[in-house]
Amino acid sequence: MLAAYLTGIRQVEIRQAPEVRIESEDQVLLGVDVVGICGSDLHYYRTGRIGSQVVVFPYVIGHECACTVLETGRAASSLSAGDRVAVDPLVSCGRCDQCRAGRRHTCRNQRFLGCPGQAGGCLVQRIVMPAECCYKLPPQVDYLAGVLAEPLSIGMYSRQLAGLAGGEKVAILGSGPIGLSALLAVKAGMAAAVFMTDILDRRLAMAEQFHADWTGNPRKSDVVKEILRRQPGGLSHVFECAGEQETIDQGIELLGPGGKLMMLGIAEADRLSFDASEMRRKELMIQPVRRQNESVRPAIDLIASGQVDPRPMVTHHFDFKDSGGAFDLAADYRDGIVKAVIHVSK
Ligand SMILES: [Zn+2]
Ligand SMILES: [Zn+2]
Repeated sequence: MLAAYLTGIRQVEIRQAPEVRIESEDQVLLGVDVVGICGSDLHYYRTGRIGSQVVVFPYVIGHECACTVLETGRAASSLSAGDRVAVDPLVSCGRCDQCRAGRRHTCRNQRFLGCPGQAGGCLVQRIVMPAECCYKLPPQVDYLAGVLAEPLSIGMYSRQLAGLAGGEKVAILGSGPIGLSALLAVKAGMAAAVFMTDILDRRLAMAEQFHADWTGNPRKSDVVKEILRRQPGGLSHVFECAGEQETIDQGIELLGPGGKLMMLGIAEADRLSFDASEMRRKELMIQPVRRQNESVRPAIDLIASGQVDPRPMVTHHFDFKDSGGAFDLAADYRDGIVKAVIHVSK
């Protein structure tokens, strides 16, 4: 079978990969249909690493996928061949202290698809996963919406961690796919007002399409001043979705006393700084968000209910053989890209 290998910095090649097969009864063999390119994949593409997770080339990346079940292990009776599924890319051990405490996403023995040192990625024709990672898609949820359940689940989980009860006024700094997923989740959770920023106008237009209440471009105006003019007491929550020092500084300024800075962005820098006196005076909380925890099913349910349709964020579609072109375009934010998907099967 074929896989899209990262063979060096900014190099993707389609090569033969070893065939995979079911090795334990709880597993299923999946035919990969659609793969989403995520900001984290782009970190590996541009720099070969995220923090201490370093790619050893050649390596298959990708962790967002919608698939078709091809074969099931004897104990995987919840699924059958032909089922369409969204995949939770996290394989957890189920035995460690974290798993037992309901924190599978920080499992000490985790294997995450397309995470260097853990497991290979899903930019390949077939993968094997435990059945518990596969969520059947209802008929009204197509493969494209199914692949977006993974980024949307991060928005759902961050909303849950933020403790939003409805009626809050929040800012989301960074309107890429994760910022937009947070927007869809907090709006569905009845946030009263969502202020969104980005340095790319195309993304702000998408945020408006997804019902952001206000958008601003920090390269064109003082977004902090403009938001605080509308919310003089400051905001209760800021979702930082860019991973930049600039947006962290803006978040700290935008928060009111007791506010919470949710950190979803993956910083390319190893260290970031925080205004210590502002943090103390306002008694702010910082909550980093690691991927998501048990939120793929709620994300699929939200899509299936018709309340949320994340599909417009996919602006570009690529054939499997042109996976390199997809990464190239996405890495440089060309052509007004918001999110690209690769169609692995026809
Ligand atoms: Zn992702
Ligand atoms: Zn574990």
